[in-house]
Amino acid sequence: MEYAKPLPQVNADTRPFWQGCRQHLLKIQKCKNCGLLRCPPAFICPECLSSEVEWVAAKGKGRVYSFAVYHAAYQPGFQDELPYVVALVDLDEGARMITNIVGCDPGEVYCEMAVEIVWDDVNETFSIPKFRPLQK
Ligand SMILES: [Zn+2]
Repeated sequence: MEYAKPLPQVNADTRPFWQGCRQHLLKIQKCKNCGLLRCPPAFICPECLSSEVEWVAAKGKGRVYSFAVYHAAYQPGFQDELPYVVALVDLDEGARMITNIVGCDPGEVYCEMAVEIVWDDVNETFSIPKFRPLQK
């Protein structure tokens, strides 16, 4: 079945991120000048404006910083998943990323909830990082 949701638009800045995802590695940018971890990838550091960057692997664990439950599909491909959760997750390493919380009822999601990464292999090119409640 064809994937009906929008796919990432890859560019030179984001390519290492998506290549990592395809291997189920969560790679995030670390500023070589000030050490800031950032996600999504960007050409320059928002803190010190340096363009010197390295990629580091995150373990894929973190906590929900904030979230919203979507009850409307703004793209037709999301219709079958309503309601779904869009969240900001603070990775243990320090970066904050936007993602989905899956694997539980949207009503069970709360701020500070411990979560872990799960990979959604949507086609032969892309794996989308999502998060689920931390499995004990
Ligand atoms: Zn910096």
